[in-house]
Parts: sequence; structure tokens; C-alpha cells
Amino acid sequence: MKFLLSNDDGYFAPGLAALAAALQPQGEVHVVAPERDRSGASNSLTLDRPLSLKQAASGFHYVNGTPTDCVHLAVTGMLESEPDLVISGINHGANMGDDTLYSGTVAAATEGFLLGIPSIAISLARHGARHFDTAGRVAAELVERIARHPFRGAVLLNVNVPDLPYEEIKGWHVTRLGRRHKAEPVIRSQNPRGEAIYWVGPVGAAQDAAEGTDFWAVSQGYVSITPLQIDLTAYKQLDFLAEWLA
Ligand code: MN
Repeated sequence: MKFLLSNDDGYFAPGLAALAAALQPQGEVHVVAPERDRSGASNSLTLDRPLSLKQAASGFHYVNGTPTDCVHLAVTGMLESEPDLVISGINHGANMGDDTLYSGTVAAATEGFLLGIPSIAISLARHGARHFDTAGRVAAELVERIARHPFRGAVLLNVNVPDLPYEEIKGWHVTRLGRRHKAEPVIRSQNPRGEAIYWVGPVGAAQDAAEGTDFWAVSQGYVSITPLQIDLTAYKQLDFLAEWLA
């Protein structure tokens, strides 16, 4: 199998190295990742300047752009043939519920999916996460399963792994996205010239962490796997809006 790996934490991130090491035995691994941490970049593309592609001593390629730029560039220009799978991660921290809208990790996978390739985002669900070997084994198991039972079309999967030793993982749950409370307020401070500056505050706590959500599965020690879709149409409101306009 031919893999394209990317992330949003940067080409030097330990999570990316763990993912590449875990998948190496299963095929041909290509890594194209941002040159710096672009967490929270969502699906942005760089349109106001050209991109450069460089190779690190590790063999990984890096781009002075976003996670979406990396996958777009690799699939549409750099790789000689399309990868069988795009895998983004292993993110340093969870991407659950509304995180998926801001996440550069999910965005890199989304770009693969939009280009017609089965794609997976994988995150280790704790700030300051440590057990990248666990998430690497989970990624390898998922890939083995895909090799045995390939998907018929492009799918987009969002995987969150509890930050636990592998032996303590209880299994897998197919989940829906939960919801967070609204984020904490921005933090106001001053720069050295006395001007006001603001830091975006931390994410909110889980609001909908009911059974069946990603938050619930991870809190119970299960790997959470959520199939995602990109069509934002609110189908239930189509009739209502047509009537309202009439
Ligand atoms: Mn990140």
C-alpha cells in the first residue's frame, strides 16, 4: 500500500514520526507536512504566494504552507501516482466534537477525501499526550483491516485514541461527534509597547459527551472512530426555507 502522511503539528512532531514508523512495515510511506505548527489552520489554502517543498534529513518533506496545502501539493503535483490512503496525525491532542471544524489534522485528511482518496485523521486525545506508540499501533491495525477489506469509495474517518498504554485500551467504538461548550474567553494582555493584545483562550469542556459520542468513547478507554461528511447542507431545512421564500 502507498501512504501519504501529513499533520498540522509540523514535520518534526513526534506524533508524525510515530505514525511513519508504525506504517513503514506495511508499504511505501511518503510524508509531506507543514514546516511549522499549523494547529487550528482548518481547511485553508495558501493562495497569495508560491509554496516551496524541501526535504529534511529524516526523509520527510516539508512545505511552508498549511496542512491542506501539503496534501493538495503532494497529490496533485509531487507524487507520481495517487496514494491508496492519506493519513494525518498523530495529532498532539484530541480532535473531537467541534474541534473537527478548526483542526488542521482533520483538514489534511479532508483534502485527501475531497481528492477522492480514502483518508484518516488520527489524534492522541490528551494535551501533553505521551503514548504515541499506542496510537501508532492503532493506526497500523486500522490499515491492516483496510488492506483486508478495502473501502469501495473515498471515506473520511476521524480517529481519537485515549492516551493510555496499549494494554489498557478497551477496544473500538464507532461514534458520532459530541459537542463542546463555547470556548473560554480570549485572554487580554499588553505587548511591551503598552498596546492591548489578545490570546485565543482554551477550548470549552465537553457539553454533549453522551453515550455514543467520541468524548464518551475516549473517556471510557475506547478508540473512537467517526465517519465524517463534508456536505454542510442542512437537508431538514430545505423545505422550510423554500416555503419561507414562497
Ligand atoms: Mn495539532
